[in-house]
Amino acid sequence: MMPKRGRFAPSPTGRLHAGNLFAYLMAWLDAKSTGGLIVLRIEDLDAQRSKPAFADQLMRDLEQVGLTWERGPIYQSQRTEAYQEAFSRLSRAGHLYPCFCTRAEANAQAAPHRGEGSSYTGACRTLSIRERRVRREALAACGRASSFRLAMEDGCMRFDDLFQGEQVIDMHAGADDFIVRRADGGFAYQLAVVVDDADEGIDSVVRGCDLLPSTAKQIHLHHLLGTPTPTYGHIPLFVADDGRRLAKRDHDAAFDEMMRTYRTPAALMGHLAFRAGILDEDVPAMPDELVKVYDPATLRKRYRNQHAITFAML
Ligand code: GLU
Repeated sequence: MMPKRGRFAPSPTGRLHAGNLFAYLMAWLDAKSTGGLIVLRIEDLDAQRSKPAFADQLMRDLEQVGLTWERGPIYQSQRTEAYQEAFSRLSRAGHLYPCFCTRAEANAQAAPHRGEGSSYTGACRTLSIRERRVRREALAACGRASSFRLAMEDGCMRFDDLFQGEQVIDMHAGADDFIVRRADGGFAYQLAVVVDDADEGIDSVVRGCDLLPSTAKQIHLHHLLGTPTPTYGHIPLFVADDGRRLAKRDHDAAFDEMMRTYRTPAALMGHLAFRAGILDEDVPAMPDELVKVYDPATLRKRYRNQHAITFAML
């Protein structure tokens, strides 16, 4: 088997919790089971919520539980030139258009039959050159600028997800046009992640199921940019026992709290692996031991259509 190159892509906006830890464990096992390596990328594009202290703490926490990386950390905040270059190429090829809607306006246009995250009807896509100029000048007069969206086409995107199996995603021109550069000039997650995965040579992306809807957009961007598309594997999210999704604000599943409960890194990782079906018993095990029993074919059967794993502290 070819050694895979995977990645951890944390957003440094809070402490590690059980869900992130599980995603990084799975990305690590996926790469290491093939003799591959991991790139650590700090996704700090959101300047307001990202804190260097969270990134530093995250790295210490990952090291403590044996989740190592061979390349990085690479900070997205230092990669603006690469994003700008990709943006210019997409723009020159006619794939982008300026959007003058505020977020509230875009949401107000929401097509009720479309799922979460599809809140736009493509209103700015068909504006004439003249209308665009008028709106650009009107925005500039109040010190604002347009965002830029990628013009999607109607069609189906198919891919085989390592854990969720065959996926067929319907894409709609207009409704699925997503932002690649925000009105404040910052590059959006979808563009940055595709440029980074390509530049870092990532060929296997393992991450939570919450990002499954983004995958068709990212594959489409890889096609437009002519970069190799990685394979994708989406794993269940950890949820609290009342079904609530674990978030960084849930102190019950924050790293410190978990370490206080499980006492050793091996006990914590073994427990996560047991909840996730990697281990049959709840016994202490570090990632380098788990890699010996990691069996993606069994997990694929288990995770297919299972989008949540309950995580309750003992
Ligand atoms: N930065 C994202 C997160 O922490 C992950 C993005 C990705 O894996 O593509 O949820």
